[in-house]
Amino acid sequence: MTRKARKRQIEKAMTPAGGWTRETLRKLGVSWPPPRGWKKKLVRNASSHPGRLAIDYTSRNEALRSLGYPTYQAYLESPLWASIRKKVLARDGHCCLLCGSWATQVHHLEYLLPTLLGQDLRGMASICGDCHHHVEYDPSGHKRSPEAVDRCYRSARADMASSPLTQEFRAIVRGGAS
Ligand SMILES: [Zn+2]
Repeated sequence: MTRKARKRQIEKAMTPAGGWTRETLRKLGVSWPPPRGWKKKLVRNASSHPGRLAIDYTSRNEALRSLGYPTYQAYLESPLWASIRKKVLARDGHCCLLCGSWATQVHHLEYLLPTLLGQDLRGMASICGDCHHHVEYDPSGHKRSPEAVDRCYRSARADMASSPLTQEFRAIVRGGAS
């Protein structure tokens, strides 16, 4: 989504009184109460990520606090995350979406509320420990920015999709289905 489209979307979601309801903000991926500067942030993220809404770690942590998790770590230790993780791994057959080996972890592509609540599993991908580390940290061991994580994931995903092994696997699946 472009900046302009995001601005229009925010304006259209405004109530006649000139405000935004908790429900419309939830749909926009904004936690309640809305943090300062949420409009600017939404528009900014829209411009740098056409086609999807990216959320930085501050917004993620705010969203988690609104759900009652004081930290991301607390969320990762919750029964909710355990059940979401299990569902995502089962959906992908425990196959790492970046290299095809046994996946034991789940990577977040975004941190929208429906994703954090496990209502929408599309923003998560099964991944092996090695690939997860490669995506989240640069070669010198520093945590990548959300934008860099996204670029790294997408490029690895594209490599995987075009690899001969994946092609061969798809051909087998197609052959079996016909
Ligand atoms: Zn992998």
